[in-house]
Amino acid sequence: ATQHEDPQAVFDSLEQQFSLHEEGLVALTKTFLEEFKVGLTNYNQPMAMIPSFVQGVPDGTETGTFLALDLGGTNLRVCEVVLNGDKTFNLVQQKYRVSEALKTGEASVLFNYLAESVDAFLTSRATTEYVSPSSPVESTHSQAKVEPVNLGMTFSFPVEQTALDSGKILTWTKGFSAKNAIGNDVVKLLQDAFDRKHMNVKCVALVNDTVGALLSRAYTGGGCVAGCIFGTGTNGAYIEQVSNIPKLANSAVAKKGGQMVINTEWGAFNNSRSHLPTTAFDNAVDRLSINPKFQAFEKFISGLYLGELSRHILVALVDATPKSLLFSGKSTAHLNKHYGVDTSFMSAVEEAWVGKDDSADAFALPPFSVLEFQKDKLSPKVVEKLENIRQHIVKDLEFDLEDVSLRDAAIVRWVCALVARRAALLSGVAIATVLIQQGSASLVSENKPVKSNNETFGIGVDGSLVEFYPNFNGILRESLRMLVGEDVEKRVEIGLAKDGSGVGAALCALMATKLA
Ligand code: ADP
Repeated sequence: ATQHEDPQAVFDSLEQQFSLHEEGLVALTKTFLEEFKVGLTNYNQPMAMIPSFVQGVPDGTETGTFLALDLGGTNLRVCEVVLNGDKTFNLVQQKYRVSEALKTGEASVLFNYLAESVDAFLTSRATTEYVSPSSPVESTHSQAKVEPVNLGMTFSFPVEQTALDSGKILTWTKGFSAKNAIGNDVVKLLQDAFDRKHMNVKCVALVNDTVGALLSRAYTGGGCVAGCIFGTGTNGAYIEQVSNIPKLANSAVAKKGGQMVINTEWGAFNNSRSHLPTTAFDNAVDRLSINPKFQAFEKFISGLYLGELSRHILVALVDATPKSLLFSGKSTAHLNKHYGVDTSFMSAVEEAWVGKDDSADAFALPPFSVLEFQKDKLSPKVVEKLENIRQHIVKDLEFDLEDVSLRDAAIVRWVCALVARRAALLSGVAIATVLIQQGSASLVSENKPVKSNNETFGIGVDGSLVEFYPNFNGILRESLRMLVGEDVEKRVEIGLAKDGSGVGAALCALMATKLA
C-alpha cells in the first residue's frame, strides 16, 4: 500500500512513474537496435531474431486452398483458406478453446488435441476439396490415391526454425508451459499426432503469427515491410537483408542472398531488466506470472498483462493509507483475483470516456485533476460519461452501484489510460526500431541519411489490443513522430492483417509446396 499524507502526491507519483518522455523513448530505441544486432549475430539470445526461412513476400496473385492451424494465444483456430489470386481470400474457421490443463499438461496431450480439432473441422467441411498447385485437380478425385491435405501451422511461440517445415520449440510464453515440448520439432509433434490418428493431413509449413501478418498484408494490400502482433502477447517480424544476418553466414541461405523475414521475438526485449522504466506494479505482475523475468517487454504491452497491471494499481489505491483513495476502501472478489481484470475492461472504460470523440484531446491524460474533482462542477456530458464507466465497473468488477462514485469512475479511467498509453508509446519504439534497422528512417536526433523520401511502409498488425483499444494506434503514432519524425510517420501505413495467421499460414504452405 502507498502511504502519503497528500493524496494528490499519490496520483502525481503514479503519473510520473508511468510517463515516458522523448529522451527515454530514444534511449530505448537505441538499446532495441543493439539487441536486434546481437540477435542477428548470435543464437540463443533473448531477442532471438529468428530466421523464418520465408525469403519472398506474396504479391496478391497466389492461388490455392489450404488448411491452417493457429496456436498461440487465447484460442486455437482451424481454418480453410482459399486464395483467389486477386488479393482476396475466403476463409472459414472454427475456434477451439485451449484449457489451462492442456496449456500446462503433457505436450503429447496438447498435440493430440490439435489433431482432434483439425479432424473435427475436416468432418464439418467434408464436402470441400483441397487443391494445391502441385496436385492437379483430377488427382483429388482419384480413387487410388488421395493426396494429403496440405496444412500450414501458425505457432506463435519462440521456435528456432531450420527450414520452412521444421523448427525446435525454444520456450513457452503467454501462459503456456506444456511439458516435454521444449527442444522438440513442432512440425514433427503435430505430424505424429496426425499420424497417430491416421489422418491424411500433411503439415508442410511452420510460421509465426507475426510472419503471417506480414505475408497476409503483403497479399491483400501490396507492399509490406513488417508484421506486428498486439494481442495476448506482442511480437514483430520484418524483412531483413540476408547479408545483415551474420549467424546465417555459413548456411546455404547466405549463398543465395536476397531477403529473409525475421521473427524478432521482441517480447523478450529487456529481459535483462535494466532499460525499461519498471515500477513496483510491473515487478509484482512479473513476479506473480508464470514466467518471471522472461518476456519483459511483453509484460508492459500486451493484452494478457495490461488488465492485471491496472488491477494492481487499483488495489494499491484501495489500500492507500492513511485514507483509501478508491471505492471507499472496498474491493470485490474480481478486483482481488489474479488476472481478475481483463484488458477488454480497460478498452470499454476508455471507450465510455471518449465516446465518439476521437480528437487527441479526448484521449489526453489526465482528463482533470483527480483531487479537484467536484461533481457539481462537471458538465452534463462528463457526468454522463462517468456514469457509463461506473456501469462498467459495477458490471465487470461486480461492485454494488452505491460503492462506486463518479470520482472513482474518473480514477479508474485515469489509471487505465496511464497503463495503456505507456504500452502504446513502447509499441512505437519497436516499430521505429524496425524502420531504422531497414534503413528507411533514422532517429530525429541523429538525422542520418535514409533510403528514400517518398516510399510508403506497409505494416500489417493483428491482435485485439490494436484492433479494439481506443486510440492505441494514435498514441503509437505519437511515439513514431517523436522517434523518426513526422515525415516518416506519415508514410507508415498501419493496416489490420485480419485473419493474418490463417492467410499467412496458407501462403507459407503454398511456398512450401512450390519448393517441394
Ligand atoms: P490472440 O493474441 O490470443 O490471438 P487476441 O488478439 O484476441 O488473441 O488477443 C486477446 C487478448 O486481447 C486478451 O489478452 C484480452 O485481454 C485482450 N482483449 C480482448 N478484447 C479486447 C478489447 N476489446 N480491447 C483490448 N484488449 C482486448
